[in-house]
Amino acid sequence: MKITRVETVPVDRYLFVRVHTDAGITGLGESGTWGYLEASEKVVEKFAHYLIGEDPLRIEHHWNYLYRSSHFRGAAIMGALSAIDIALWDIAGKHFDVPVYQLLGGKTRDTCRVYYHVFGSTRDQLVNGCIEAKKLGFTAVGHLTPFLDEDREVPYFKTHAAKIGEAIDAVRQYREAVGDEVDLCVEIHRRLTPAEAVVLARGIEQYHPYFYEDPILPDNFDAMGLVAQHINIPIATGERLHTIYEFQMLLARGAVQYVRPDVCMCGGITGAKKIAALAEAHHVGVVPHNPLSPVSTAACVQIAACIPNFALQEYPIGEHVPPKSEMVRGALEHDGHGSLIVPDRPGIGIELMEDAAERHPYTMRWVGTRLNSDGSVMDQ
Ligand SMILES: [Mg+2]
Repeated sequence: MKITRVETVPVDRYLFVRVHTDAGITGLGESGTWGYLEASEKVVEKFAHYLIGEDPLRIEHHWNYLYRSSHFRGAAIMGALSAIDIALWDIAGKHFDVPVYQLLGGKTRDTCRVYYHVFGSTRDQLVNGCIEAKKLGFTAVGHLTPFLDEDREVPYFKTHAAKIGEAIDAVRQYREAVGDEVDLCVEIHRRLTPAEAVVLARGIEQYHPYFYEDPILPDNFDAMGLVAQHINIPIATGERLHTIYEFQMLLARGAVQYVRPDVCMCGGITGAKKIAALAEAHHVGVVPHNPLSPVSTAACVQIAACIPNFALQEYPIGEHVPPKSEMVRGALEHDGHGSLIVPDRPGIGIELMEDAAERHPYTMRWVGTRLNSDGSVMDQ
């Protein structure tokens, strides 16, 4: 079997990659480069020059060849490599007529517990989102901010006391709204300094959040380790990291209790499986990052299905309504009790609709962020 074509398919706000073979099997993957998918698409086109004519089943070799072919790294390259890797695993699964997890050691579980996204620009919307998720059968909610998902056009200012005090009170309300039947995955979106992160973590500890995600900018692993040493709730981080080397540095510092590899960014299924093994050696759980399409969810679940230290899967809203439902066939099903059912279809078990790009033309994400009231840049 040989690769005959590598096709990029931008749809809506997502970038898919389809790898074609002379055996008639195609594999599907997705790039997680989010705000810079145009750059990732160009890298895929460059990688295609190497891949055409190659055996698609030599996944580890192709991964190394592409990763080590030049000395550059970063999100555009790793998103492209991840998309190709997922597509090659999809081909391998279809070739051997088994789900990908079967090729990676077999099933470790039948269902994957998920956390459901809750958004809101007001406290009431966020509280109601938690209640709604519980009614739908979910046992964990995430993307759950104690600071509100406010309009980025509105300049930000709060005193330290109000910022921390209101955030602690928000988490209290989320807990009271759902009792202990729903876990709260508290997302800080890199908004705090290490000192603020310690103060807030101590304030919300009594409400037993499942994890405390990206309390500070994730670039300095020593700083994240410092926060971890001073708080009593687990830190989740890793969605921006590209390699096993970065995860190893994070783990070595005891800076993380739940790693968050993005299968469409960290080197695909090949990268995520290795990161999971590094985490396993530190007794750290895996919560795959997944803000993307149902293709990413399908790839994530192949990992969740074959590792021993899977903890929770991010599950974005709207997989079964347009536009997402009109992009793919075979999106995973929620079992009504807070989990996705591990599929038994070959490969990653999902296909792109032929008319997806036509029905939902690509929309670029433009550059934009929120400012503080003094005009300086903030993270939200
Ligand atoms: Mg996050």
